Amino acid sequence: MPFAMELQPEGFVPAVRCDHCGESVTAETGLVLWSIDVPASLSAAPILVACDQDCADALAARYPESRFALLALDTYLVTLVEDSLSIDADAVRQRDALAWAIEQTRDEVDQALE
Ligand SMILES: [Zn+2]
Repeated sequence: MPFAMELQPEGFVPAVRCDHCGESVTAETGLVLWSIDVPASLSAAPILVACDQDCADALAARYPESRFALLALDTYLVTLVEDSLSIDADAVRQRDALAWAIEQTRDEVDQALE
């Protein structure tokens, strides 16, 4: 499962892990692979994520019967977020900041009432 929550000193943060070696994937070298031989009836192909070209080659070698296409991870993610899902990053950050502020206020009220 390439998309994970990684435990950092500040808490859990979203991360991407390599499907081959399990290490964290960076935007600079990360790659997305999918089989171009997926049956048309499925209409979508699952993806694999690799941290670099060596791991991408190793992943593809696990499925010698399939032909794979490759895309840079950053290209995949920007296209997914901005084009396919139409996510407005500024609106999401504003909503999360508001939710955080409401939660903090609720905690302060609870503490004042105790
Ligand atoms: Zn790897």
